[in-house]
Amino acid sequence: MSEMERTTPVLYLVVPCYNEEEVIEKSAQVLGDKLRRLAQAGKIGEDSKVMFVNDGSKDRTLLLLHRIAAQDALFSVVSLAGNYGHQSAILAGMMTARQYADAVVTIDADLQQDIEALDKFLESYMAGSEVVYGVRNDRHSDGFFKKSTATMYYRLMHLLGSKVITNHADYRLMSKKALDALSEYKETNLFLRGLIPTMGFPSDVVYFDVKAREAGHSKYTLSKMVTLAMDGITSMSVRPLRLISSLGFIVFVFSFVMSVISLVDWVRGYNVPGYTTTMIVSLLIGGITLLSLGIIGEYVGKIYMETKHRPRYIIDTFVWKKEDVMDDREERTE
Ligand code: UDP
Ligand code: MG
Repeated sequence: MSEMERTTPVLYLVVPCYNEEEVIEKSAQVLGDKLRRLAQAGKIGEDSKVMFVNDGSKDRTLLLLHRIAAQDALFSVVSLAGNYGHQSAILAGMMTARQYADAVVTIDADLQQDIEALDKFLESYMAGSEVVYGVRNDRHSDGFFKKSTATMYYRLMHLLGSKVITNHADYRLMSKKALDALSEYKETNLFLRGLIPTMGFPSDVVYFDVKAREAGHSKYTLSKMVTLAMDGITSMSVRPLRLISSLGFIVFVFSFVMSVISLVDWVRGYNVPGYTTTMIVSLLIGGITLLSLGIIGEYVGKIYMETKHRPRYIIDTFVWKKEDVMDDREERTE
């Protein structure tokens, strides 16, 4: 794939954390262990690190993270000023890590995603891939609701023309080159899974098993999930707007036919009570109009947010080692 041989990469694991106090120490241990083994095997550089991103946790997560980073230089902590959500948290981590790493892998804090798949990610990177997507083998660890809504959602996304990779959920390797390219994308409505495949670059897929959450419970509330799903659709596709036009056209043809029929009836002096027809037509048109306004409003809202050019995250503190605490609220906003 690439003309030049790759050298052993400095790998950064970016781990978003939101209220993960139950699992974070175990995660640090497992992820740290894996990085050490990979470094010993000569598969990654000695300067590789785990970079936790605290996404405005309200529990003891940040305290525990600082404790972990103070004990061991393998760990670093980027702490955001508030809860910006999973997508912004990974973006903050990736954009910080790309300054020090050759490759970055994003992985959840709950150890659901099999860390042993890292070897395959690295092989693919060494073979020249700039982006490697982790794709889960099956969804038996998910409940019925999540499983069926996820399947339906991926279908809908493909139908709307988005390039999302089915069953890929932000467990992903990106090279420095790909991350530098990603930094050029300034959109506020972030849906990384849809955005990254549109960038191009040689990419690959690695399959992994999903386990049950190690501890704690899912931090993706239903409303966070719905928001992500909506962002996924409206930030990647304008097809819903086109569907409105098609719908409008169909309704127009239908009303035209209905008008002709009513006129003919009137000319013939044929008077029907017509309550049902009138009701159905006005309800239908009213409903379609409101729905269409809603969809258009969704896009207008997105445009409004985009025009503000607000920072997508604000880094409060960045901790490497015990001695070395940087407070660069101003410098490192994106
Ligand atoms: N997360 C985050 N900010 C949020 C919600 C979640 O950084 O507002 C993190 C969370 O700590 C975890 C990852 O995103 O590391 C995935 O969340 P979770 O495991 O709760 O989602 P699920 O696996 O249930 O989809
Ligand atoms: Mg999870």
